[in-house]
Amino acid sequence: MGAPPAVGLCESCRHQQVVRTTRGSSFSLCRRSREDPRYPRYPRLPVVSCPGHERRAGEAQS
Ligand code: SF4
Repeated sequence: MGAPPAVGLCESCRHQQVVRTTRGSSFSLCRRSREDPRYPRYPRLPVVSCPGHERRAGEAQS
């Protein structure tokens, strides 16, 4: 429903996992947080800069 929230960099990052709740909202989870405590599990959005960002395979490089 409506436009997706502005997620920023996480949107194109291979470490992102979108978690949907039964109430219809969704959260952007950073899978790097599992191995690296420097990354929050649910980063504050939009993420505009992140040292851990890695583009998903198959997406064009910018
Ligand atoms: S590594 Fe950075 S850009 Fe990627 S999902 Fe985590 S917080 Fe977002």
